[in-house]
Amino acid sequence: MFISKIKIAFTLLITILAIDSYGQSNDFKVTLDAGHGDHDFGAVYSGRIEKNIALAIVLKVGKILEAQPKFDVIYTRKTDVFVDLVERANIANRANSHIFVSIHCNANRNTAADGTETYVMGMNKIASNLEAAKKENSVITLEKDYKRKYEGFDPNSPETMIGMTLMQEEYLENSISLASKVEEKFALLGKKLRHGGVKQAPFMVLHKAYMPRVLIETGFVSNPTEGDLLNSEEGQNDIAKAIADAIISYKLEFFGDGEVENVGEKPSQILKENTEKVNDAPVNDNKVGVKDAAAESIFKIQFLASQKKIALEPRNFKGLQNVSIVYEDNIYKYLYGETSDYEKAKNQLSEVKSKGYDSAFMIAFKNGKKISIQEATK
Ligand SMILES: [Zn+2]
Repeated sequence: MFISKIKIAFTLLITILAIDSYGQSNDFKVTLDAGHGDHDFGAVYSGRIEKNIALAIVLKVGKILEAQPKFDVIYTRKTDVFVDLVERANIANRANSHIFVSIHCNANRNTAADGTETYVMGMNKIASNLEAAKKENSVITLEKDYKRKYEGFDPNSPETMIGMTLMQEEYLENSISLASKVEEKFALLGKKLRHGGVKQAPFMVLHKAYMPRVLIETGFVSNPTEGDLLNSEEGQNDIAKAIADAIISYKLEFFGDGEVENVGEKPSQILKENTEKVNDAPVNDNKVGVKDAAAESIFKIQFLASQKKIALEPRNFKGLQNVSIVYEDNIYKYLYGETSDYEKAKNQLSEVKSKGYDSAFMIAFKNGKKISIQEATK
């Protein structure tokens, strides 16, 4: 019991410190993720090693951004270490990062394949996009308990990959904007590197990050010419400069050139504190459990997310009334309706979609905490 109290106090202290160091900062927070690491080499062709190239580029991007005013760079790794995919995303989530940028290299048995590709989370009808995602997701099989940890996710099954994308449309617009900027900057490199464009595929590392997020395949290590460029100091400098320029341009477009607007205490932080308290409660204190079971699940329809605040008037939402707003993960989310009846919520979802909000989806809460629809309908 005594130990539990220390643990709770310690958790609170950590939470307060975390809020203090991130929540109060008005800097634009960028989490850079160098793919792979340690025993996970990524793609390897003729001495061109993806994990090393990705890290070299990330460190160069970070150096450029750190020299900018009002930028705060967070790294998932700065050395040759293994970090699992969920932890990579969680580093960005805990930091309340504004964007998440994962950097990789592509590879193909056909050594003529070349060009960059910048991915946003989601499902594209072109099945070939699944190949890159399959390859990058397969790293989870290196983890002992991946089946339990990733809730039965099979990196080789298109079905489970599609399932992962169903509720993941909330940052799409901003993610596409960031991805387009990256590809535009790559295009400026001219003949050095063929820019491939923005694509959509279900990547686990993006799935778990709750913010605008992209995964950049900086080129093919399997292609002798492009691979050598990726493996060279000069090539890495060019690529890093392009990515950093894109990030700076994104910040400028959505947040201006000064400080990032800080809207008080963010609900996501409050949620985080609550969960940590519950998780650290002594196991024999079953009051928590009883209260949980008694509380009703509440369903709402999320139909819009925006980095700009929109006044809650029906005319701004195609006539929808009863719209509420939450500020979470650095973004305003607009919610319609509120009911504890799942069937009613389904009708509300159709209603919202019929207004033209095609990517609307249902979310659920219990005790003010977001839970999955599966949990809510149990
Ligand atoms: Zn990779």
